[in-house]
Amino acid sequence: MLKENYHQVEKNITEACKKSGRKREEVTLIAVSKTKPAEDIEEIYSEGQRDFGENKVQEMAAKEEILPKDIRWHLIGHLQQNKVKYIIDKTVLIHSVDSVRLAQTISKEAVKHDCTANILIEVNVAQEETKFGVSVEETLPLITEISELPNIKICGLMTIAPFVDDPEKNRPIFKKLKELSVDIAQKNLHNVSMGVLSMGMTNDYMVAIEEGATCVRVGTAIFGERQYIKG
Ligand SMILES: *Cc1c(COP(=O)(O)O)cnc(C)c1O
Repeated sequence: MLKENYHQVEKNITEACKKSGRKREEVTLIAVSKTKPAEDIEEIYSEGQRDFGENKVQEMAAKEEILPKDIRWHLIGHLQQNKVKYIIDKTVLIHSVDSVRLAQTISKEAVKHDCTANILIEVNVAQEETKFGVSVEETLPLITEISELPNIKICGLMTIAPFVDDPEKNRPIFKKLKELSVDIAQKNLHNVSMGVLSMGMTNDYMVAIEEGATCVRVGTAIFGERQYIKG
């Protein structure tokens, strides 16, 4: 079942790439495995998938410990400063940086671990009140400040689009994030590249690819609905 889902998503990505004249290799599928057991991850792993996304530090750390070491773990959820130390050397990319203070903590931990932290800036393009992320206007000033910190590399931008019935409704949001990344790339800031554009989820990843996504974060379409146990 998961395998079929996975191959269907792969097919859709290939199709969206073709439709927009892009190469399949330009888009990384991040299989979002939050709340799902290690066996589910292993099933997709055995099909060749290596990029997985988690939104909670403890869950990522626990899975990282027991699963194959060549998995590339992406931290896609809001990150608390006191938890940075647990994942600093376990994640290839932190997608959700939205403040200088958080970036400072990441930088400090990266120095301690003698590694470079790759990060994305989370932009709340839709200006939804319930979401994390900085506004479009705040993005360049934030990046300029963060780019001065040691052992940190800004690799691009990320956004979470609203949940909508018709994915076309999110197209303007994806367009806007792409525009912003092009604007920022032109500034040629030290330690800043805008190569990564992390946007698109189960409901809208094909539209996001058409608008330039280089990472899509797909959970439900691969692993099925999530069940949250209230604690
Ligand atoms: C859960 C989550 C996803 C995946 O959502 P689906 O709709 O299940 O594909 C993507 N990005 C972030 C930041 C998430 O928290």
